[in-house]
Amino acid sequence: MSWTQPNYNQYLLHIELSNLCNAACPICPRYWAGSRIVRPGLDPTQVTVKQFKEWFPPEFLKYQTQRVMLCGNQGDPFATKDIVPILEYITTHLPKDRSLMTHSNGGLRRPEVWAEAGKLMQGSEMWFMWFSIDGLEDTNHLYRRNVKWTTLMKNVQAYLNAGGNAYWDMLVFKHNEKQIKAVKEFAKSLGFLGTRVKNPDGLVWDGKIQKRGVYDEKGDLEYYIEVADDPQYINAPPDMQRNTEPPIPRVGRPPDTWQDLFISDEYNKYQNHKIDCKSLKVQGSEIMIQCDGLVLPCCFIGELWSSGRQDLAKQQLNNIWNTDYMYLTKNKISDIMSYLDSTIMSTWNLPDYQQGKCMYCAKICGQDSQIDRLIHTKAGI
Ligand code: SF4
Ligand code: SF4
Repeated sequence: MSWTQPNYNQYLLHIELSNLCNAACPICPRYWAGSRIVRPGLDPTQVTVKQFKEWFPPEFLKYQTQRVMLCGNQGDPFATKDIVPILEYITTHLPKDRSLMTHSNGGLRRPEVWAEAGKLMQGSEMWFMWFSIDGLEDTNHLYRRNVKWTTLMKNVQAYLNAGGNAYWDMLVFKHNEKQIKAVKEFAKSLGFLGTRVKNPDGLVWDGKIQKRGVYDEKGDLEYYIEVADDPQYINAPPDMQRNTEPPIPRVGRPPDTWQDLFISDEYNKYQNHKIDCKSLKVQGSEIMIQCDGLVLPCCFIGELWSSGRQDLAKQQLNNIWNTDYMYLTKNKISDIMSYLDSTIMSTWNLPDYQQGKCMYCAKICGQDSQIDRLIHTKAGI
């Protein structure tokens, strides 16, 4: 399997409709280092329904798409002005036995928009919303900063009352771990189909479990977030120690140039790892399409690309790729798939980094690397 020849000729699309958001989650790459300061260099962008139709023609959705996931690394799909016409277009052409899922913090747009979405996201158990709600009224805003509970609940109810399928998606931290049972019961009473609890990423670096500073629009500390006490909700090896010292670095203002953000990550230990790509799956090949039309081979590389951090792996990918070829605004999807095969897949069996083996692929999809055990080397970016 490959990107040009996916299993069953099927693609799993991960589409980022916008890099806009009402919220300011502390671990989101949209913001600078856990603050409310939008990442310097972020160009506010959203996909229009016209672009969407050009990029994903009806035949492509009908015959070559196994899954459409509207999510992304740096924006909420519902921040896109054309979210309803885009959902109308997808639900018209995507067969009902293919997956359609969209994520949102639920705290934006009017209830009328959500009711429209609810009318469209039904009729198949494979079509549903993930509402990212991390706790109850007294805790959700600690991670989903700026999300107003009353607005969120009005939107959720408008969507559910219109018949939309939905699951509650909850990140578990120290501040909400005692609420899991109450969340599940409340979700059921509202009409959610179920609740998924997830361990947060981004709270482990320098080989230790860390508490993480949450900063305001000036870069001043507001409070800390921490992993749960219950080890089953921690993305770290069971014997990993907790750092009780205050987190570093303090956020401050962003530096003037991206070069100042260079982080020397540890890649050497992955160099000999056999790569088993998480994007090339049995049911088809996954691709990530960013809101500016850039096609990337996976959301892991998408996250690296969207974040402010610079490191050796990002430098290497910058050398491997001429990203001019990788935009749906400039090229057909089939040509971009062929470019991914020849530029990145072709590196996986090379003996070492010096000869071109992709460092990021070795780290993310190497034999001993578990994506839910990612160990970051620096905080805050
Ligand atoms: S809701 Fe999503 S896009 Fe918005 S700030 Fe939070 S993580 Fe980022
Ligand atoms: S990091 Fe590389 S190997 Fe892993 S999923 Fe992405 S493209 Fe595939």
